[in-house]
Amino acid sequence: MLQEKDVDVEVVKAEEGEIFDIELEEDILKRNSKLAEENRSLLDRYGVTAIDVMGAIGSGKTALIEALAERLKSRYKIAMIAGDVTTTIDSMRVRRHGVETVQVNTGKECHLDANLINKALRKLDLNTIDLLFIENVGNLICPAEFDLGAHKRIVVVSVTEGEHMVVKHPYIFLASDVAVINKIDLAEAMGVDPDKLCRDAEKIKPSIKVVKVSVKQGSGIEEVIKALDL
Ligand code: MG
Ligand code: ZN
Repeated sequence: MLQEKDVDVEVVKAEEGEIFDIELEEDILKRNSKLAEENRSLLDRYGVTAIDVMGAIGSGKTALIEALAERLKSRYKIAMIAGDVTTTIDSMRVRRHGVETVQVNTGKECHLDANLINKALRKLDLNTIDLLFIENVGNLICPAEFDLGAHKRIVVVSVTEGEHMVVKHPYIFLASDVAVINKIDLAEAMGVDPDKLCRDAEKIKPSIKVVKVSVKQGSGIEEVIKALDL
């Protein structure tokens, strides 16, 4: 495996605060955290447990939510807030399982924030819900920075994203309670060891619960439910 020390490459490192990135501006993040706390207390008042599902496009976020909803719908009244840049595809998929959905289209933004969730929550009758999935925009970088007010956060990675997927995105793992290593049925064909991805995630955050899953084959779903204490 390629180690950093094995190669003599000159690296230009960005210092903290050097990159002009409006998303990471401190007061924006502060305002976001305040709104996130408001969202969480609103959800608590209505006894709604909210789960923020993060991961890259194609990692299987929607498919995982569908599988969880199918197994949990007899025990919980479930709704979903679907974040996407422009489409409503994921909303339509999850609705087939009898789950009420609210679509949030972020336009140019590559993450959801607490303000958008606050608006979406107003479209739901929280009295009629006890479990809420929030599918974040497909991205592994900035969703980590934006607390939405959910109670738990899952990050979904697929073995098809390659063996370095976890080590390259430490912040999203640090921000998550559960890591789902998905599409393990394809691991051999991809030449990727799912246990390496598990170890990488545990190295970044020892308290994270890692679950190997094949949503397609229906394996590991019950373990995810357990990891989420549902
Ligand atoms: Mg999706
Ligand atoms: Zn973003």
